[in-house]
Amino acid sequence: MNIILFGPPGAGKGTQADRIINHYSLAHLSTGNMFRSAIHNKTPLGVKVSSILASGELVSDDIVVALVKEETEKDIYTNGCVFDGFPRTVAQSVTFDAMLSERGQKVDLLLSLTVDNHELINRILSRGQGRSDDTEEGIKHRLEVYNNETKPVLDYYQEKGIVVEINGTGSVDDVFNRIKDSISAI
Ligand code: AMP
Repeated sequence: MNIILFGPPGAGKGTQADRIINHYSLAHLSTGNMFRSAIHNKTPLGVKVSSILASGELVSDDIVVALVKEETEKDIYTNGCVFDGFPRTVAQSVTFDAMLSERGQKVDLLLSLTVDNHELINRILSRGQGRSDDTEEGIKHRLEVYNNETKPVLDYYQEKGIVVEINGTGSVDDVFNRIKDSISAI
């Protein structure tokens, strides 16, 4: 089962991804985590994307898709995965679907976490992870990038009939219970 966990920055994708992977024994792929780890380890990829992450812009589709393609060739992904922060553009979605289809797989479900903008900004500012892009300006810019470039991914998958909207407010357990209900319905 391949699930895309979708939503704006601060919607709780990382937290819910952890719950889902533990409950359903799925792999977890977060492109944001992969980039942060590359930056931390000062790999050539990390050096290339460091200023992009700090600015809140998106890394180019070519780089992201190549990274995901290489990573998902590993055996741990054969039973399915929660994709968190990917795909983030329609171009990434199209290439991703083609890649899965070559492997006889597909995206089974897109869970779209919804939280209002005011709460998103408060959540990010209070999560205190010290991320270089977690300033108020940085967050506002990431929300803009999300609205302009990432939201169209929803329409793309809506046409395929696999989108389920999840109310992302309430406790972590509340949100996870809603997610479990949606997963058991497919
Ligand atoms: P995240 O942890 O998912 O919020 O990602 C942090 C940052 O990594 C984003 O603001 C982008 O700069 C970059 N990034 C992560 N995933 C992608 C993606 N699928 N496409 C382009 N850039 C990405």
